[in-house]
Amino acid sequence: MSDLKTYRMYIGGEFTDPSGGEWLDSFNPYTGQPWARIPRGTAEDVARAVDAAHTAFTEGPWPKLNPSQRGALLRALGDLIAEHAQDLAEVEVRDNGKLLAEMGAQLSYVPQWYYYYGGLADKIEGAVIPTDKAQVFNFTRHEPLGVVAAITPWNSPLLLTAWKLAPALAAGNTVILKPSEFTSASALEFVKLVERAGFPPGVVNVVTGFGQEVGEPLVSHPKVRKVAFTGGEMSGQRVYETAAKGLKKVSLELGGKSPNIVFDDANLDNAVKGAISGIFAATGQTCIAGSRLLVQESIHDEFAARLVDFAKTARMGDPMSPQTQVGPITTRPQYEKVLGFLEMAKGEGAKAVLGGGKAQRPECGEGWFVEPTVFTGVDNKMRIAQEEVFGPVLSIIPFRDEEDAVRIGNDVLYGLAAGVWTQNMRRAITMAERLQAGTVWVNMYRAVSYTSPFGGYKRSGLGRENGQDAIYDYLQTKSVWINLAEEIPNPFVLG
Ligand code: NAD
Repeated sequence: MSDLKTYRMYIGGEFTDPSGGEWLDSFNPYTGQPWARIPRGTAEDVARAVDAAHTAFTEGPWPKLNPSQRGALLRALGDLIAEHAQDLAEVEVRDNGKLLAEMGAQLSYVPQWYYYYGGLADKIEGAVIPTDKAQVFNFTRHEPLGVVAAITPWNSPLLLTAWKLAPALAAGNTVILKPSEFTSASALEFVKLVERAGFPPGVVNVVTGFGQEVGEPLVSHPKVRKVAFTGGEMSGQRVYETAAKGLKKVSLELGGKSPNIVFDDANLDNAVKGAISGIFAATGQTCIAGSRLLVQESIHDEFAARLVDFAKTARMGDPMSPQTQVGPITTRPQYEKVLGFLEMAKGEGAKAVLGGGKAQRPECGEGWFVEPTVFTGVDNKMRIAQEEVFGPVLSIIPFRDEEDAVRIGNDVLYGLAAGVWTQNMRRAITMAERLQAGTVWVNMYRAVSYTSPFGGYKRSGLGRENGQDAIYDYLQTKSVWINLAEEIPNPFVLG
């Protein structure tokens, strides 16, 4: 019997063992050691969870609740998360190695999604349609879809859960959450709060395990009507293909290779901080990482030097310590992948002016640490400039003028985010218009909110999360026609 903390899945309002009787170790990336065990779910567990969610959608208390009552439940859940934010943050840090400072702030912010969509639940109004037909009353209703699969990655588990769960529940759906196999513990702690908030059994279920063993059967299950996915591009493609066979609604939030563009008229102190936050915060493990730093030629050398001077002071070590600024890489495979990218970039001719390998500092112990790395001499055609690394690795690419910045900025397959640093208003607005990205920040980087739509252009995804419109991704519109005429006209002709 293992002495690691052992979690159980949550299906139909019960904490339950996986049908295959197997668990997976969950590792602490700071120590490289397992700290907990999460259930290795199976297709059988998925089927049970979908049945529970489907039953909860069609019968029992949930479909009888009015939207205001659903909103009240979401707000109660928000309050419970606020109360337990620090504990949840610590679980996430143990699992994904991100800084407690960052995860504490993130978890304290998560309740806002439940408040916002809780507030929106009873403001989804249909319309009375001014139809061209005589003596007809036509109106619309927005109705929930049914069972929603929410699939999340390891970098911000409960934040990205909130982006899906809050609108899905506000709309009246039921949900099966499938967290990353690397970071499932926080979802299994969080769901205890869902239960305490008073959500009826089966409305929220959590099934854990591998993408292929749990994710795939979930996406292909005929009773799942919508898949909300955040993760890597290859998995996203696979999810899209599988969901297409069942003609399901799909939203995909995928990767990026975002340009962070510094013009010579920028406030350079702020731009240095913006570049740092774009790539070294969260150890670069964010989809919105500003991993391509485009710097105007006239300031390239000075800016690169200032950036390196700042980045080299970054303190690495225990992510639980408030002093630490750069933590480990979350998973061993990702750690190896990042190291592989560093060698590849050097092979392509990029020059590591900072870092460039494993971090072998005493404070990093046996953890999966990579030195914050800055490459110069990068051409945008190189793989290091085209592919998502998902680590603390920055490529600096010079550009001539606005035209050149737009050309290089857009010359990738992705389009998740972009940053622009300039004091020229015309330039700021023009760049914001011309960059192909779902989010553009001007003189700031890495801000997200429950109020503002988030999602990708090009291969960075489909659909938008956050903001009012996101709830319509979890609804379908019904048009209701009522005849007001005494007599039905010619039945052989379309009315
Ligand atoms: P991943 O694609 O490996 O896994 C994401 C989730 O999908 C996991 O829960 C996994 O088990 C599941 N999964 C994998 N294959 C599946 C399949 N065939 N069917 C169903 N589910 C499957 O991604 P990751 O490594 O956990 O996360 C990193 C990636 O996520 C990066 O590419 C990053 O850019 C992206 N990401 C995007 C956003 C965004 O909002 N755009 C946010 C965070 C992370």
